[in-house]
Amino acid sequence: MRPGVTGQDGDVAFAFVSGNVALDLVGTLQWRRTTPRDQLTGAVDLRRWIDEAGLLPGGPDDVDPTAFRRALELREAVHRLARDRLEGRGFDRGALGVVNEIAAAPGRRVELTAAGARVSGDTDAVLADVAAAAIAVLADRDLVLKECGRESCTRLYVDRSRGSRRTWCGMDECGNRVKAAAYRARRRGDRR
Ligand SMILES: [Zn+2]
Repeated sequence: MRPGVTGQDGDVAFAFVSGNVALDLVGTLQWRRTTPRDQLTGAVDLRRWIDEAGLLPGGPDDVDPTAFRRALELREAVHRLARDRLEGRGFDRGALGVVNEIAAAPGRRVELTAAGARVSGDTDAVLADVAAAAIAVLADRDLVLKECGRESCTRLYVDRSRGSRRTWCGMDECGNRVKAAAYRARRRGDRR
């Protein structure tokens, strides 16, 4: 299994490579510019994503349709605000409203028990914390926010590498493929 990528056989593998859980959520709609593929097609997917993101072990007991819709709304609002920032625009007011409203709800509850930390909460609580993570990343102008260098990928991430030289969301999924394609193109050029 590749680092940062999870999923069992038959499941869509979620990636957690963005360095921020809200940006990871944005990444569940892949290939946004070309042939979008949505990894969150229903409540079951969202539950599994919440579990695999480490937000709530096992995921929430129940994801009702309203909470599922709210998760997608949050995802697209965070995407819009991140794009605004990447393109040097002011934040979209509607998207700000969505993120701030979801963040205003109470978040997950964390307790210390003899067995360690116990985290509990419903889907809305999880989404409140994801919205808070979005606010943290979007408010911090010192963080280097980037889109993957592979044209079709569209995944966003925080570049925390030294000198901010990270170009890809992940080497396996994007970096190596772009390099292999460039190598093939060069070889074709040589033969001409
Ligand atoms: Zn990528």
